[in-house]
Amino acid sequence: RIIAATPASPNEEAIERALRPKQLDEYVGQEKARGQLEIFIAAARQRREALDHTLLFGPPGLGKTTLAHIIAREMGVNLRQTSGPVLERAGDLAALLTNLEANDVLFIDEIHRLSPVVEEILYPALEDYQIDIMIGEGPAARSVRLDLQPFTLVGATTRAGMLTNPLRDRFGIVARLEFYTPTELAKIVSRSAALLNATIDDDGAFEIARRSRGTPRIANRLLRRVRDYAEVKGSGRITKEMADAALVMLDVDPVGFDVMDRKLLEAVLFKFNGGPVGLDNLAAAIGEERDTIEDVLEPYLIQQGFLQRTPRGRIATQVAYQHFGVVVPQTGPN
Ligand code: ADP
Repeated sequence: RIIAATPASPNEEAIERALRPKQLDEYVGQEKARGQLEIFIAAARQRREALDHTLLFGPPGLGKTTLAHIIAREMGVNLRQTSGPVLERAGDLAALLTNLEANDVLFIDEIHRLSPVVEEILYPALEDYQIDIMIGEGPAARSVRLDLQPFTLVGATTRAGMLTNPLRDRFGIVARLEFYTPTELAKIVSRSAALLNATIDDDGAFEIARRSRGTPRIANRLLRRVRDYAEVKGSGRITKEMADAALVMLDVDPVGFDVMDRKLLEAVLFKFNGGPVGLDNLAAAIGEERDTIEDVLEPYLIQQGFLQRTPRGRIATQVAYQHFGVVVPQTGPN
């Protein structure tokens, strides 16, 4: 896919870092999560305590990593960053934990992918700021208890349902990130354009925003591609017309669906007669991983009302039929 919702190259990641808001009041949208965090951060600061462990969940590209960095900055502490799949051995986590200073933030991305042994170590660390580590081998091996500095775990995951119950129960703050409205995304696009020294009309920003699948990461990426287009085909100014022409070239359709979105919807509509179709069949039909369908593709299609998840499988809605210009079958599920 051209415009994936997950970071691609190291170069892309560097640009993303540069565009990241650094303070809570620069963080656009997510009123609910932001409002809660504002209060909990202020309270923790007043008491000079670590912020409660915080779980952030929602589809990729909605600002979980950004928020973790903002939390550390607003708390005035360091942030250490790792991810579930990277922490392979118990020792990896122990090394991170014992190096934390008082009230630091440990950010674990993809926390649902922690191995069970690493998760075991994490429980007492979260509850009592203590870990048990094994020293030595064989009959001489013994367990040693180490005290840790108080710290905040910020965990990020695409779906809260993938966490084990004991882990989920240890988070005092749970924030769900939602897709952004076009107006919110337009604000993000305008801000990013200013940082990139690009000239953009309000209409141009809105056109990009409207077609970015509710996702800041995609909005920022499309902005950069549209800027390239406007520099080569025009004067560099990003107008609505320029944005539209560039997005057509990028295969982003008028409602913002990309190639994979359309492939998925077309499969449900035409290969499976509108559904219901099970996840495995759908994955095989479009040659995409189950996880990508569930984490990246489906949430937006469901939120936009094009797809429904039922106990019998996925079904296409009337809106989906209309989008592809086909008449809703009389015998169909709708
Ligand atoms: P996630 O960790 O959820 O995958 P990120 O935090 O990496 O998402 O965000 C992706 C990009 O989107 C970042 O580079 C950041 O610039 C931008 N972004 C995300 N949320 C916001 C926001 N609320 N306001 C402004 N920019 C945002």
